[in-house]
Amino acid sequence: MLALQGAFALHLQAIERLAAAGLSVEGVPVKTADELAECDALIMPGGESTTMSMLLDSQELFAPLKAAIINGLPVFGTCAGMILLSSEILDGRSDQNCFGALDMKVRRNAYGAQVESFETPLDVAGLDEPFHAVFIRAPGVEALGAGVEVVSEHQGQPVLCRSGSVMACSFHPELTDDDRLHRLFLETIVGV
Ligand code: GLN
Repeated sequence: MLALQGAFALHLQAIERLAAAGLSVEGVPVKTADELAECDALIMPGGESTTMSMLLDSQELFAPLKAAIINGLPVFGTCAGMILLSSEILDGRSDQNCFGALDMKVRRNAYGAQVESFETPLDVAGLDEPFHAVFIRAPGVEALGAGVEVVSEHQGQPVLCRSGSVMACSFHPELTDDDRLHRLFLETIVGV
């Protein structure tokens, strides 16, 4: 669990619930390259992608994480995490970095300001029942490469995508106690 900034504590609770439900998984906070090296997969939380980008640099974590992703580390990015995983950021800060792990162009805050946050049920490929999604200053996907699979969309716009071992959503799956997306990531991508 990338734990530099943002909503990492609730993601760790989701992992704890899944461990209690019998999944062979342990969540640990990651703030350094040494901690990253101990992990088989990474979740990148929502929060503030500009701040996370600065902290990734100052913690000397950006380059090791980029190398790990290139080497196939499974990663699930949520909201700000999706922005960091993208290949191009619109309305970002000029010094903001992204990993280029998903061939997609995202616009920060595309759904509006904090007060325009909203919740909606989403149909998700692979889930039997809709997932209740919470969008907070969410990124909008404006262009997608051919190799990126759309796992869920909202009003015609992709909101959950996957390419190889990388998955990203523009909403906050850790804000409900529905752990099906964490489980989907762990079971189908990480192979827990
Ligand atoms: N708008 C935020 C950003 O640019 C992301 C918001 C979120 O993660 N809830 O990082």
